[in-house]
Formats: sequence, structure tokens, C-alpha cells
Amino acid sequence: MSAKRVRSLMIHVFMAVAILVACAPAPTEVPVVATEPPEIVTEAPPVEETAAPTEAPAEITDTELNVLCTPQEQWCQGMKQEFEAKYGITVNYVRMSSGEALARVQAEKDNPQFDIWWGGPIDSFVAAKGEGLLEAYDSPNYANLIDPVKMKDVDNQWVGVYVGTLGFATNTDWLAANPGVEAPKSWDDLLKPEFKGQVMVAHPSSSGTSYTALATVLQIRGEEAGWEYLKQYAGQMAQYTKSGAAPAKFVGQGEAAVAIVFSHDIVNEIENNKMPLVLTFPEEGTGYEIGGMGLLKGAKHMQAAKLWFDWALTPEAQALGPIYTAYQAPTVKGVELSHPELLEVNLIDYDFVWAGEHKKEFVDKFTNEIATAENLKE
Ligand code: PLP
Repeated sequence: MSAKRVRSLMIHVFMAVAILVACAPAPTEVPVVATEPPEIVTEAPPVEETAAPTEAPAEITDTELNVLCTPQEQWCQGMKQEFEAKYGITVNYVRMSSGEALARVQAEKDNPQFDIWWGGPIDSFVAAKGEGLLEAYDSPNYANLIDPVKMKDVDNQWVGVYVGTLGFATNTDWLAANPGVEAPKSWDDLLKPEFKGQVMVAHPSSSGTSYTALATVLQIRGEEAGWEYLKQYAGQMAQYTKSGAAPAKFVGQGEAAVAIVFSHDIVNEIENNKMPLVLTFPEEGTGYEIGGMGLLKGAKHMQAAKLWFDWALTPEAQALGPIYTAYQAPTVKGVELSHPELLEVNLIDYDFVWAGEHKKEFVDKFTNEIATAENLKE
């Protein structure tokens, strides 16, 4: 199936689902009517230990869950609170960029400190699977996936929990100060002399966003021409950052002119942080991420981890993103898209498995031959 066909299919499914959701009757509220006057309490009643309301099945005995969380902090925090409120299980999470998260999972192979890894481009999960770090799980909620072929590992070791497309963010104040210069609309535009020293992206060793950009270029141009392009692109950089979303913030603050970032992060900077940015996409095609999730082999709270896994594949959980300023598209049916226009762009048929299988090789090549991973901006 062509990239356009895949995209148009996804958009149609999303739209149909959005309409169904919009037409669903609103839940009715039953008013509570007091029939007797309230009892007057003169003495404080003894404090009773009451368990928090929980929907966790009785057979689940885990009382806590350790989540390795790769999306932005606000979404990690929101998901923690929502899960705790629903299931009464304490969630401890650490937010790390994809490259750091993968390194951590590798280092803790024999004694994993995390139970589940939630978020970050799927390439890292493919790499983790290749090293035997993930536990297979046949979730009943795979039935909710919009595209189970593309969005789930054949061996059930990872699954997609969101979709995001790569875009460019250009500072509009900088454009106003440089008349005649337009925001980039192609990968070639980034190489123009006016953008020398003005481009910001994360380093692919730490960031899944940046690795998605690297793998996108190699897929669009082929490996030989792609690496040649990446050398020139490195010559345009102001600085590399550690986290994938950070360049949109720094460019918004005027530290450089253009950031290469996931488009939902650019929307967040524009809508919530009022940054002077304009979002453009490369017309010849852009890459996209499927944000992944996987259980860690040897997890100490596997029951709770499976509960989170199942929950994260429900429309209810995936509808939470925009509440916590995360505008990625969902991977399950039944969720209205907050920003459908971010998918209505020319997407390449990004090969996630190929990108994941070559991750170490390509990151090492970039680090050794093009730009070191030292002194990354935080
Ligand atoms: N934050 C957001 C909003 C993302 O969409 C992603 C990608 O999945 C990440 C963070 C990943 O972070 P990084 O590029 O730092 O690995």
C-alpha cells in the first residue's frame, strides 16, 4: 500500500470514528435528592481506613508500577495521575529521551528497575526487541488498533500508542527581520545559505525525534545520497539538543531560526506557550513516528504493567493526550483527533522495522563521522 493510501485510510478511519464519537449520547447524570435532614455530628467519628476507589481486578496484587516515560513531562505526569485515580496503584515514573531510555533498559537487562516503557518512537522498541529486552504480551485491546499490521509487532513485543509527523518550526520574528527569506518547505531548503548556523535539532544518540529525521532522510534519498545530505545538514546546525522537543522551545525564544521537531510539539509551543513560530512541512515528504509501548522482560510488577498496557490501548486513555498538551494522533479507534491537519501532509512510507534494526549502526556513524554527542544543549 502506498504512503498516501495508508495516510488517507488512517484519516478516513479517524474521521469516521470522530463522527461516531460526536454523535454518541451524552452520559445522563442522576441528581442526588436528599430525603432526610443530615445527621448532626457532635463528635468526630473514628478515622476509618478506606481504600481508594479502584477498578483494578481483584487478582492484581501489585500496589505500584514503575514507568519509563519518554513523551513530554506534562503527559507523563497526567497519565500517572489518571492511572492512579482509576486503579489505586501508585505510579513512579522517570522521563527520559528515547536514546537514554534505551541505554537504561540495556544497562538494567539483568535487574530491570522499570516495568513498562511508554512512549517514544518505535525504532527504539524494535532495537530493544532485537536485544531480547521486551516481554511479549497478547493484549485483548489490540482489537482497538486502527491498523494492527503497522502499529503492532508481529511477536506482540511492542505496540503503537500514538502517531506524530515531523515538521519544521521557524521563528516568525526572525523571518520578519530577514525579508525575502521564507520558512523552509523542503529538506533542501534547510541547506540554503541563509539558514547556515540557524538550524536546531536534537542529537540522534539521545533523541528519538532526531533519529526519526535521520532515518527519514536516508529513506527519502537512499543511503549514499542521504549521508551526503546529513553532512551538509550538520554544517547548518546552531547546536544539537538532548531532547527532541527542545529545539522548538529554543527557536521560539530566538536562539536559532528553524527547528526540526515533531509537529505536535510545534503546535504545543504555538498554542500553549505563545511562541512566535510558524509550522511547515517538507513537500517532498516527511517521516512520522509511531510512539511505542512495551513490557520489560523481568519486570517486578508485571500484573500492574499489563493493566497499564491494556489501559493505554483504550480510547479513554488515548483521549487524555490533549488535556495534557499532547497533540499526537491516537492509534486506537474511537478517539477524536485534536489536530487532524498534522496528518494531512505528504508522508513517506516510513519503515519502522528497518529504522529500528539499523539504529545502533546509524547513530554510531552519525556520532563518529558527523557530529559528536558531547555538550548537548539541555
Ligand atoms: N516528546 C514528544 C512530545 C514526542 O512526541 C516524542 C516522541 O515520541 C518525544 C518527546 C521523544 O523524545 P525524544 O526525541 O527526546 O526522544
